[in-house]
Amino acid sequence: MKKSCDEGQMKRLTCIIFVLFCFLMGNSFAYPASDGAADAVLQDAGETAAETVAVPAGAETESQDKGSADTAFDEQDWKLTLINKQHPIPEDYSFTLGTIKTDRGNMKCDERIIEELNSMMQDAKEDGIHLAICSPYRDLARQESLFNRKIKTYMRGGMTYMDAYKISSQAVTVPGASEHQAGLALDIICDTYTVLEEGFADTPAGIWLEENCARYGFILRYPKGKELITGIEFEPWHFRYVGREAAEIIMEEEICLEEFWEKYL
Ligand SMILES: [Zn+2]
Repeated sequence: MKKSCDEGQMKRLTCIIFVLFCFLMGNSFAYPASDGAADAVLQDAGETAAETVAVPAGAETESQDKGSADTAFDEQDWKLTLINKQHPIPEDYSFTLGTIKTDRGNMKCDERIIEELNSMMQDAKEDGIHLAICSPYRDLARQESLFNRKIKTYMRGGMTYMDAYKISSQAVTVPGASEHQAGLALDIICDTYTVLEEGFADTPAGIWLEENCARYGFILRYPKGKELITGIEFEPWHFRYVGREAAEIIMEEEICLEEFWEKYL
């Protein structure tokens, strides 16, 4: 008797977990979100020693074999890694953290993008634009803590966990799907406009970045008008490194990275 009772409980438990999973997955696909940057303005000063990071992923990535013929782009190219809710950071993705030296202290990101990032910051300065990085590399723990903090805030207001999760996933990128976690994205503002709001797009710094980022291999990752494709709100401060060749196509054609993949890979 006891055995069949345990089996019954197990079945019920499995059923509950399955329903919960479906509910969570459904929510994470449904809404445009920000990438959590607004919560991450303050950053730790980085260490100077480089370290290799193996990024744990939240789920499997589907294979991207579209059999594209004669394009110059390689879908295995680390620079072009597609990261979004449908494509979490691949399980075997790893990179080496390097240090960005800034007026606000040392910060970290993938060491391979630092040279061009520094050139961009320096050239902007020569044009009278004082850019400031406010959110560089973020580890999984940091992303999870941003996400959980949001959930707690809503639960303190009386929401159930499920409702709080649903609302939070519209405001903060689900852990495992943030480009910051892969060390390839930076939130950049300027000394005269220090909040992460759409208005940054109209500042001289926002305009300079949009016009020039591609020359250094960066793209405006979440453009206005592409929210339904990227799943993320317009973020004029979030820049993603993809390498100069791809960046020039993306910015010139005013497409997002998802559309670039569709067309060129
Ligand atoms: Zn960002």
